[in-house]
Amino acid sequence: MFKDKTILITGGSRGIGRSIAESFAGEEASVIVTFKNSIDEEYFNSKNISFYKCDVSDMKSVQETIDDIIKSRGKIDVLINNAGVTKDGLLMRMSEEDWDIVIDTNLKGVFNMTKAVSRNMMSKRSGKIINITSVSGIMGNPGQANYSASKAGVIGFTKAVAKELSSRNINVNAVAPGFIETEMTDKLTEEVRQSYLNSIPLKRFGKGSDIAGVVRFLASADADYITGQTICVDGGIIM
Ligand code: NDP
Repeated sequence: MFKDKTILITGGSRGIGRSIAESFAGEEASVIVTFKNSIDEEYFNSKNISFYKCDVSDMKSVQETIDDIIKSRGKIDVLINNAGVTKDGLLMRMSEEDWDIVIDTNLKGVFNMTKAVSRNMMSKRSGKIINITSVSGIMGNPGQANYSASKAGVIGFTKAVAKELSSRNINVNAVAPGFIETEMTDKLTEEVRQSYLNSIPLKRFGKGSDIAGVVRFLASADADYITGQTICVDGGIIM
């Protein structure tokens, strides 16, 4: 289905991004992940997944990475903006630094990557861009003013860019995960986990593969007539 496609996943070293990357491996596609700090090189080499160290919040780092990928592969067919961070805290205690890190990574990072990649997609008049947002950006979570704002921003960005790029046959959509078991959610206390669990109609936390399945669909030709949408993959939290 993705034969000869170049698929780029930001923040693919672990968690949801890694599950997404694994779901494309073995498809005769060129799968590339980015990371910020470290990566298990041996593992990704064994899966034939390429990797770049690239801070999505830094436009220079993003541009260098994209230039290098275009030089070596000639094109990018699918961009999955997945890299994200949390710096939770109540508003009254939230530092300016924690606000900036989250907005710069989760929102500006999506802007940087999409801007750098869309030039190539526009010139070949095709492409799929999938932004990983969060249910937190739809319903707002206490203690996540920075994160909810960044993820709500991604949803608005998705719609605006979907309209701008539609004439070039580029689909831009978002996926909003609910509570997915990763290192990001490992940080939560047992009490918070239990209260989240109580609010999930399907009564279980999600897995990376639950998100990967929907991302694969949106990246495929089956989703050619879908753009500007946000699909919640959350066990029914938002309905
Ligand atoms: P993880 O913390 O497990 O992984 C985050 C990934 O993002 C890592 O690969 C990390 O790289 C990378 N990353 C962080 N900052 C940067 C940066 N500045 N530049 C490039 N890469 C960066 O997160 P999850 O897998 O849990 O989350 C993935 C996405 O899904 C995020 O956007 C998150 O907001 C969203 N999401 C997650 C939910 C969940 O329940 N887990 C729920 C809703 C949304 P490195 O390993 O090098 O640090």
